[in-house]
Amino acid sequence: MLNINLIHAFSDNYIWVLRRDSLSQVVIVDPGQAQPVIEYLEKNALQLVAILITHQHYDHTGGVAQLLEKYPRCELIGPQRDPSDIKLGIDLPVAELFTRKVKEADTVKISQLDLSFEVLEIPGHTLDHLAFYGEGVVFCGDLLFGAGCGRIFSGTAQQFADSLGRLMSLPQDTLMYCAHEYTLDNLGFAKWVEPDSEDIKQRDEMEMLKQEKDQPTLPTTVELECKTNPFVRLQQPQVKQAAEKFSGSALTHDWQVFAALRQWKDSEYD
Ligand SMILES: [Zn+2]
Repeated sequence: MLNINLIHAFSDNYIWVLRRDSLSQVVIVDPGQAQPVIEYLEKNALQLVAILITHQHYDHTGGVAQLLEKYPRCELIGPQRDPSDIKLGIDLPVAELFTRKVKEADTVKISQLDLSFEVLEIPGHTLDHLAFYGEGVVFCGDLLFGAGCGRIFSGTAQQFADSLGRLMSLPQDTLMYCAHEYTLDNLGFAKWVEPDSEDIKQRDEMEMLKQEKDQPTLPTTVELECKTNPFVRLQQPQVKQAAEKFSGSALTHDWQVFAALRQWKDSEYD
């Protein structure tokens, strides 16, 4: 059995830790910080064998250099594609440290954990963004969050909408491991877009209970996102109408609905 636990980083990042049964070897995803990882590994007597990188923003790569120094035999696997448009302060490329660069349809095998993931290229948040999919789970970084999605940095709205559509075409029960805890905030926006949705109201209550107990709202599932995440419900009449009302014009394509929703949310939150 694959066990997946989390390490908190910064204020709302999750670093996912993968472990097979009770073996001591682990794989982690997107270590934005090294110290919380080192503390976790030492406390639980675990050995780091590989790091997966979904994209090269600092809050996903900031811990890499220190971790590789401490665990020199650890593999570092990340996107072959360049992040392109590097923005200082947000991007922290670690490509020169990658022991393996991967692209669409590659298979990532980690023999120590008998683990095998398919690589999906999902540009939108950044151009280099990857998802790792296998064993009924997907690590989707900052493309999708619970009931929401990431901002557009170096991709386009059309790429973003297509990539979200791709994740939504995975089996309905796929567990989605996102990199941030933003679900409650996102549900607030989802309620503006679809004020009549019972699914959104029910999820809001459910997630609020988890957060009150200091539990993560993640992982989510493809099924739950299909019902409650406005950014993947672009063809729903109420979502489209709300986006058109915000933009003040008729929106022909799904990606235009996506772009309007993203702009709307960006304008309302920080
Ligand atoms: Zn990011």
